[in-house]
Amino acid sequence: MNVAMFTARAEPAPSPADPLDHLADVLFHEMGSPGVYGRTALYEDIVERLALLITRHREADTEVMRFPPVMNRAQLERSGYLKSFPNLLGCVCGLHGTESEIDAAVSRFDAGGDWTVSLSPADLVLSPAACYPVYPIAASRGPVPAGGWRFDVGAECFRREPSRHLDRLQSFRMREFVCIGSPEHVSAFRERWIVRAQEIARDLGLTFTVDYASDPFFGRVGQMMAVSQKQQSLKFELLVPLRSEERPTACMSFNYHRDHFGTAWGIVDEAGEPAHTACVAFGMDRLAVAMFHTHGKNVARWPAAVRDLLGFPPRSDR
Ligand code: 5GP
Ligand code: ZN
Repeated sequence: MNVAMFTARAEPAPSPADPLDHLADVLFHEMGSPGVYGRTALYEDIVERLALLITRHREADTEVMRFPPVMNRAQLERSGYLKSFPNLLGCVCGLHGTESEIDAAVSRFDAGGDWTVSLSPADLVLSPAACYPVYPIAASRGPVPAGGWRFDVGAECFRREPSRHLDRLQSFRMREFVCIGSPEHVSAFRERWIVRAQEIARDLGLTFTVDYASDPFFGRVGQMMAVSQKQQSLKFELLVPLRSEERPTACMSFNYHRDHFGTAWGIVDEAGEPAHTACVAFGMDRLAVAMFHTHGKNVARWPAAVRDLLGFPPRSDR
């Protein structure tokens, strides 16, 4: 065999390594699709400790709710999601036909054909953010009292953005604090959290900036929505330079929706005016990735103050 011929053949240029790739082996298990990963015990432990830390910062009189990874499709439609991010939505579908129609679909698969053409949409979508289900629940409770309402919500979220980057998952955990009330109330809530979140990030030893931001609204009209969102300072993000200083990763966001959800859902104050809303979102998976990127894979070697904050026992070698 002519070995030289093999070694001399031009290999395709390897794609440049992403700065987060070295974490993949210790944090995630491949599951066959980009951005959808099994999580290791090491990683999950940090996600849980970060969640407890966030809980410790929860304001008094905040009602806790946890949501499943799916929500009612009509509710998300009514919240205006299709106007803003139709390209990111994942919709549940199923084989809803008769027994013979379902048999035919399975037979097509068995014969090497495409069974998925028989799918039709269900009344469910994959939740793209943790706060959407809370607005209809709030609306069902009648007028918002003068002191407003605060909620602590969490869900496994889905956004159809396949990527090999470990900070861009399709399926990721989001934790949010939501405030519903008067414009003053809601703005003050967001201001408090912009300060508090930076304290949390500093205590975690993360390098970060906080900046105006806009959502990735779809299409040309969406570009105008993004400009207007930025001009009105409706969204801030806490950004951590995970892959580069120029393109840092948003690990938390601070969003003021004005009366968008109040109007969409008929959430009103005692005078019948639409309520305003705001939410503070923590990307649990991005925060955990940021912690490993910043402090390394060996949690025993993380700074003592950070370990202490996350509830680890003191190291015995000190
Ligand atoms: P937002 O609604 O502001 O886009 O998202 C809220 C938070 O969820 C973000 O600040 C971020 O931490 C997290 N998040 C958004 N998209 C992704 C994603 O593609 N992957 C991961 N891991 N987290 C995300
Ligand atoms: Zn939200």
